[in-house]
Amino acid sequence: MKSNKQKREEIEARRLKKEERLRVQARQDAELRRRRDVENALARGEVSVDTTRLAPSGSYSIPDFIERGTYRPESFVCKDCGIAEVWTPLQQKWWYETARGDVFTKAVRCRACRGKERARKTAARRAHLDGLAKKRPPAS
Ligand SMILES: [Zn+2]
Repeated sequence: MKSNKQKREEIEARRLKKEERLRVQARQDAELRRRRDVENALARGEVSVDTTRLAPSGSYSIPDFIERGTYRPESFVCKDCGIAEVWTPLQQKWWYETARGDVFTKAVRCRACRGKERARKTAARRAHLDGLAKKRPPAS
C-alpha cells in the first residue's frame, strides 16, 4: 500500500513529465511553423538570411528580416527625389551580408539618387584631400 505522500509525489512527477512533453511539443511545432513560413516565403521570391554573415549589432532588439529569416521586397520613397522604389531581396542580401551594412539601416535613396550621392561624396572627398595637400608645406 502506497502512502499518501508517495501518491502525491507520483502525481507531481507525472504532472512535470507532461508539462515537459508539452513544452518540447510546442518548441517543435514553432520550429516546424517557422520552417514552413520560410519555405513559403522562398517560394514567393524572398531570399533567405545567412545570419552568420551579418554585421554584429550591439542592440538587443532584432530586425524583422532576421526574425523572419528572409529578405522580402520592400518599397520605400527616395528621400531626395520622392520617387517610389522597391528594395529587392537580393539588394538587401548584398547590403547586409556582403557590404555588411548595419542591420538597422535600410535603403533611403533610389538607384539614380544613390549614384548621384556617391559622385557627390567622392567629389567632396577629393576637394577635401586637395585642400589638405595645398596646406601641407612643400617637401624639402
Ligand atoms: Zn531618388
